[in-house]
Amino acid sequence: MSVLVINSGSSSVKFQLVDPSDGRSIASGLVERIGESSGHVALTYEGETTENSAPFPDHGAGLRSAFEMMKERGIDLSDAGVTAVGHRVVHGGEVFSEPTLIDDDVCRKIDQLSSLAPLHNPPNLQGIEVARRELPDIPQVAVFDTAFFHALPAAAATYAIDSDVAAAHGVRRYGFHGTSHEYVSGRVAEFLDRDPTSLNQIVLHLGNGASASAVRGGAAVDTSMGLTPLEGLVMGTRSGDIDPGVIMHLRRSADMSVDEIDELLNRRSGIKGLSGVNDFRELRTKIESGDDAARLAYDVYIHRLRKYLGAYMIALGRVDVITFTAGVGENDLNVRADTLAGLEMYGIVVDPERNAVRSKDARAISPDGSPVTVLVVPTNEELAIARAAARLVG
Ligand code: AMP
Repeated sequence: MSVLVINSGSSSVKFQLVDPSDGRSIASGLVERIGESSGHVALTYEGETTENSAPFPDHGAGLRSAFEMMKERGIDLSDAGVTAVGHRVVHGGEVFSEPTLIDDDVCRKIDQLSSLAPLHNPPNLQGIEVARRELPDIPQVAVFDTAFFHALPAAAATYAIDSDVAAAHGVRRYGFHGTSHEYVSGRVAEFLDRDPTSLNQIVLHLGNGASASAVRGGAAVDTSMGLTPLEGLVMGTRSGDIDPGVIMHLRRSADMSVDEIDELLNRRSGIKGLSGVNDFRELRTKIESGDDAARLAYDVYIHRLRKYLGAYMIALGRVDVITFTAGVGENDLNVRADTLAGLEMYGIVVDPERNAVRSKDARAISPDGSPVTVLVVPTNEELAIARAAARLVG
């Protein structure tokens, strides 16, 4: 039994054939540069990678090429025991609070939510439409990035603006990376062999995009991303929190258009905007060579993270576990150590030796018996989507 997981972005599609029972990745691949003059598709199966370059005018052409490649490698999706196709969908708005079996009506609703996520929902939907056409007999399931935060308490979900305007335009805090926060907080309970309802957790998903969540008894009570994935922590290329007055100022004084400001805050800000690079490995190299801009970028990043950590410690009242996940959280020991430095009086301690261990497994980096357990737990959004899809189709 396997689930084909599809994560369809603006110019790329990631796909993975996953066994939801044990999490084994049977095959995985990536179609890139869709819509450009030369596209690229790669498939890894049984330890061997096959690649092909060709123009893919749209998502349909890209995915068809990937399916063709799977066939050539002996993976026939219709015979491979594929029980479902699971699609990552970024914005579920107020409509979708859980994984949903896809039909025409669901596609229409995902399309209607595109105004809230213009860069994400349309390519997600294209992936869904192609997969439905190519694999018409396999049930398709949408798994929403916002779903885990659907029931945020009103005080955490509400922006303090005119409530009529907010209601008319769907302006509220939705939160993103929900599949990861849900998966990781669930893995934490498993790893600690604790009932999830007994745990108060802070999850720090630090990848190229970054978000924090406060999870009480298995339910999210706050998260750092809002109407869009732009709010909150400093990210690879996104600003995170910013005075909304900056936007009006740039509009009026710098004569920047809304699209230009959008591009500035989403793609030319964050670590990249401050230092010129967005990868933490390159940032570290620059810091070590004495680059002041890189140092400042790092300090701003850590400062913002600690602000959220403090806020969520107070929101939860009692914190049992703090968990780092995603590319930076799983790999960058300096970020982990600096985020939690000097918090011994709150029972938060990082053991330097444990923190220095490199591993793909979940692990504790706090000393045994610490009041607050600090963990590193690799996220696996594909597995979470595969499991959600498999559960839904039974
Ligand atoms: P993600 O979005 O979760 O795939 O995370 C990607 C980011 O993780 C990259 O942009 C890097 O900043 C960071 N990253 C990946 N590997 C490492 C590493 N070994 N050390 C530090 N940062 C890393």
